[in-house]
Amino acid sequence: MRIDIISVIPEILHGPFSHAIIKKAINKGILEIYIHNLRKYGLGHRKKIDDYPYGGEGGMVLRIEPVYQCFHQLFSERDYDETIFMTPDGKLFSQKYAEYLTEKKNIIILCGRYKGIDQRIRDHLITQEISIGPYVLSGGELASAVVVESISRLLPGVLNNPDSMETDSFQRKNLAANPIYTRPFIYKGWSVPKILLSGHHKKIKEWLYKKSIKKK
Ligand code: SAH
Repeated sequence: MRIDIISVIPEILHGPFSHAIIKKAINKGILEIYIHNLRKYGLGHRKKIDDYPYGGEGGMVLRIEPVYQCFHQLFSERDYDETIFMTPDGKLFSQKYAEYLTEKKNIIILCGRYKGIDQRIRDHLITQEISIGPYVLSGGELASAVVVESISRLLPGVLNNPDSMETDSFQRKNLAANPIYTRPFIYKGWSVPKILLSGHHKKIKEWLYKKSIKKK
């Protein structure tokens, strides 16, 4: 899978993709991430990318031309399945949507900044608008990293033990993740539930299942 991320401050995205599971997915060639600096497509010698909003509102707006040029360049190189804009008023991101995206070959994620982006970009270049939650960040970079991280661990061949994913939150209908424990058996008088050491697999399974039933 290939993900192209368009950003005004690409430096923010250097950290999240350089470690742990995402790094592994990239090194294995399962995931390709390309980060594009929107400034490269800026206007004039000052590479301008923003401007004042029509109508006299406060804040700056990302102009359409640099975004269009960047999209145009990418569209000329390959076909894209989705062009996603990160925005607080978009569709709430979910495990289900992450799963949907893993079926895609090429996607673009556009990170907004400032007051937002020219509406014509959303109307004509974007196929999906995604929010990571009902709050306002200063830019779409961290939101895009959340989306990419949740996709990366779902891609076949990335996790060493994909079975462990089956009991994760949101993977099973109406069930949460069960509680988990490791050594030591007792710490400060706090003990691991004895059933887990009973060796009785059927009973352990039943116990874990009961513990996974969602508390309302
Ligand atoms: N004026 C906009 C917020 C702009 S915040 C509004 O009220 O909706 C600047 C950028 O940060 C946005 O364009 C978006 O790309 C990103 N952003 C902020 N909060 C986000 C969220 N919850 N989910 C996804 N992206 C977000």
